[in-house]
Amino acid sequence: MATLKENLLRAVELTESDSPRLDLEVLLCHLLGKSRAWLYTWPEHPLDEAQQANFERLLKRRIAGEPVAHLTGSREFWSLPLKVNRSTLIPRPDTEVLVETVLTLCPQEQLQVLDLGTGTGAIALALASEKPRWQIVAVDRMPAAVALAEENRQQLGFTNVEILQSDWFGALSGRSFDVIVSNPPYIDPKDPHLREGDVRFEPLSALIAEESGLADIRQIAGAARAHLVAGGLLVVEHGWDQGRAVRRIFSECGYRDVETRLDYAGRERITLGRH
Ligand code: GLN
Repeated sequence: MATLKENLLRAVELTESDSPRLDLEVLLCHLLGKSRAWLYTWPEHPLDEAQQANFERLLKRRIAGEPVAHLTGSREFWSLPLKVNRSTLIPRPDTEVLVETVLTLCPQEQLQVLDLGTGTGAIALALASEKPRWQIVAVDRMPAAVALAEENRQQLGFTNVEILQSDWFGALSGRSFDVIVSNPPYIDPKDPHLREGDVRFEPLSALIAEESGLADIRQIAGAARAHLVAGGLLVVEHGWDQGRAVRRIFSECGYRDVETRLDYAGRERITLGRH
């Protein structure tokens, strides 16, 4: 029977992963229902036959490229365990910068907030975890994403998030908000990275947008004006090389105080403006 230590040596088989050792640790934690600290404390712990067989199955799928989050069915975002599946984007650490930005700019305890294209519900639920008195509406066009976000909401027990099916503002006529946030699709359909790594297993509807990736951001920036209160804040995530284009879109739409914030790798990632 192979021990944990021996199984972790198989990181060498994950030649295409950026984080082979971490991938194996997360898969083993998932299989055993233990923490990473536990793995390090008990390196000689042997997997039983059934566990080893399950591990082989997961390892095979990971070698074939499936994202770890799809193999475990979950991903942590803002320290919240979120259920994930193939219906939507796997939450990225960079999107936590968007959450941080909103929390820094909005010290108010009572606000009406909208999250467009919520996917797993990551942004809306992270904000809800910090601001129990904010009223947060989270929408997605895809019914499967709406169901997933609602499942995550219920799992976390947040009562201040309302999750609706809506194609951007389609189901929100007459409603206005103090803050509108979005991590929309923004990858250029021609981007070669779409053929590499985890994104191959994520739906294109959550990833790509026309006009070199800018079409949805342009649509959101235009339509959001009718749904923001005076002085209301629009905050969107975008590609590292889209900052200048997004600032221009925001300015052309009439937003003021337009600025871009950097992600954890120091790349332009979040642009904001006020109505
Ligand atoms: N940041 C993600 C990536 O580059 C894409 C997220 C998105 O399109 N909203 O893989």
